[in-house]
Amino acid sequence: MSPTQTAQLMDGTGLAKRVVEETATRAAELTRRTGTTPCLATVLVGEDPASVTYVRMKQARSAKAGILSRRVVLPATTTTAELVDTLTALSHDPQVHGILLQHPVGPHIDERAAFEAIAPEKDVDGVTMHSFGAMSFGLPGFASCTPGGIMRLLDEYNVELVGKRAVVVGRSAILGKPAGMLLLAKDATVTYCHSRTAGLSAIVAEADIVVAAVGRPRLIRGEDIKPGAVVIDAGYNPGNVGDVDFDAARTRARLITPVPGGVGPMTIAVLLAQTVDAAARQLESHL
Ligand code: NAP
Repeated sequence: MSPTQTAQLMDGTGLAKRVVEETATRAAELTRRTGTTPCLATVLVGEDPASVTYVRMKQARSAKAGILSRRVVLPATTTTAELVDTLTALSHDPQVHGILLQHPVGPHIDERAAFEAIAPEKDVDGVTMHSFGAMSFGLPGFASCTPGGIMRLLDEYNVELVGKRAVVVGRSAILGKPAGMLLLAKDATVTYCHSRTAGLSAIVAEADIVVAAVGRPRLIRGEDIKPGAVVIDAGYNPGNVGDVDFDAARTRARLITPVPGGVGPMTIAVLLAQTVDAAARQLESHL
């Protein structure tokens, strides 16, 4: 690709719409077959405005896809034990098929303990150690939603992964780490970078696939992108700015996700799809 060419955009908005439409069809069929409508429980602790908005958005999209929402709102003063009790009760409730704990939860809560109270078969947000293990072994299970969305985008654009160098910048439990594991399970050669990585630019420059999952505006410089690389920007910073210097990167990349409209819309789409998968497994095992 010559430096004057422009990368093709990876249209997450369009793909997410199709995934949600397919999900709505599957939800309607499942409801007709079993007499039960798939149900996603959302658990919100406190009133952080961004979290309130995210949960509301997830409930609205669920409704559009024919998925019921069970809304659980707990006070900001909720303790780890209380939250664990709530999640355990939802895990045992046969009317609930998927559970989403909106995070981050307050700093006084042991988030890992809370996540682990979610039954693996209802972990449609892919946050438990069980789900991470399944992702790491390439076994069936629920993917963490944003990495799952990234994999669907790569698949949609027929990006070859086998033997390719993938560099994941960021190693959070819900994004960077599982994204790398999913790429590894598809036989990419994966390198993780993080805040202590030395020589980030040189590592990025070797990547056939770059996944930016940091939360630092334009950290990944366009000039570091290998010509012809595929650039996935999961970052979302104030002002609709990603972690990649988009304008410069798109003159070198072959494919690139815009921000917004790339990775972002895929996250909820995967959440809804996995909720219907979970409901199907739970309901059809009783038929
Ligand atoms: P996070 O938990 O804060 O993790 C950020 C990661 O970036 C950490 O692993 C950190 O390294 C690494 N990092 C920080 N500064 C760095 C630097 N200068 N060079 C290299 N690595 C650096 O964030 P997150 O939850 O994974 O989210 C990352 C971004 O994705 C954010 O912009 C967030 O808004 C976005 N996001 C989007 C979606 C979506 O639906 N599209 C979903 C989730 C998150 P250490 O581990 O060493 O601290």
